[in-house]
Amino acid sequence: MAMSDSLILTTVDQAKHWAQRSSLWPLTFGLACCAIEMMTSTAPRYDLARFGSEVFRGSPRQADLMIVSGRVCRKMVPQVRQLYAQMASPKWVIAMGACASSAGIFDNYAVVQGVDHILPVDVYVPGCPPSPEALIYGIMKIQDKIRRGLPPAAEAVPVAGGASGVS
Ligand code: SF4
Repeated sequence: MAMSDSLILTTVDQAKHWAQRSSLWPLTFGLACCAIEMMTSTAPRYDLARFGSEVFRGSPRQADLMIVSGRVCRKMVPQVRQLYAQMASPKWVIAMGACASSAGIFDNYAVVQGVDHILPVDVYVPGCPPSPEALIYGIMKIQDKIRRGLPPAAEAVPVAGGASGVS
């Protein structure tokens, strides 16, 4: 192999973005039926490992991606916020499915009417439930944001108090 064939030119930022987008680690965290599709995304048929995101972490301190898979009941809000606060930065949030995005069919007082009322959401994945392919596409959209050097929603939207003041 000629020397010129192995020459790699990049910048520190590009290398950092490549490393970040190739190792998005989700938090092991599921709230309802959408979580079954989330789990399926790591199975051999879909193989989320192709995109570097199969390492679901048991500790929020080792995770930089929260996939909110299911409806968020109001009594779960403190726990969801605490898990998010303990995650490593920069951190990303996917609202997976109709319930996480807008409460879906649960138009009632017990369910948060969209997780963006309490967390900054980077990507919304539509469906009830979204397929594993749709979730993987959502993860790829976050990878694309990282590749382009865009900040996570957390750095653009203040989290404290939430947009709707849900507590
Ligand atoms: S969007 Fe559908 S599949 Fe997902 S948690 Fe809501 S009801 Fe369940």
